[in-house]
Amino acid sequence: MNILLASNNPHKKEEFARILTSHTLVLPSELSLRFDFEEDKETFTENALGKARALKAIAPDGYLVLADDSGICIDALGGAPGVRTARYGMEEHGRMLESPERNAWLLKNLSHITKTEQRSARFVCALALIAGEHRVFTLCESVEGYIATESYGKGGFGYDPVFVVKEAGKTMAELTEQEKDRVSHRGRATRHLITLLGEL
Ligand code: IMP
Repeated sequence: MNILLASNNPHKKEEFARILTSHTLVLPSELSLRFDFEEDKETFTENALGKARALKAIAPDGYLVLADDSGICIDALGGAPGVRTARYGMEEHGRMLESPERNAWLLKNLSHITKTEQRSARFVCALALIAGEHRVFTLCESVEGYIATESYGKGGFGYDPVFVVKEAGKTMAELTEQEKDRVSHRGRATRHLITLLGEL
């Protein structure tokens, strides 16, 4: 199936494309569509659904629309940054931070917490798929872990170097692409999506 992905993030497209091998994924920019969506909702699922609906309104016929909203929830921060993960540190710095700066800011903010079990966190991925006017689906998955005390690894993107996957005992950035896909929030959610696409 042809799937239009409501994102401007090429890393996300790459990760979806690695798993959705029997489908064709396209970004709005590849169809010369200008797409931007303010993620101002309180849950990942509402943001994903909002993004998918906004893109569906301008999408050409023949495409299913898929949106992802993801982020990291840290127990010691009361679940923050959560749906505001992309904007973490923005208020304090007066601008959006690049990933390495954001990771350094996070490590600094957690530096007083030394016990691993108190640095627990999870990555969450909500997906929304619009396959027709009355065929709207959402699903949400997560992966458990904790925040490392420094950055490790060069793979992945975003917070991957500071998030240790519990079941792997390594940061997400130390995993191979295949290992990340097997355990990650996006990998898990995308495998449910494959089942759903098969039924559609
Ligand atoms: P959004 O879903 O576009 O709002 O992005 C949320 C934020 O979560 C971005 O800042 C990403 O860097 C981060 N993020 C989402 N998924 C991942 C991941 O798989 N690894 C690392 N960071 C991620």
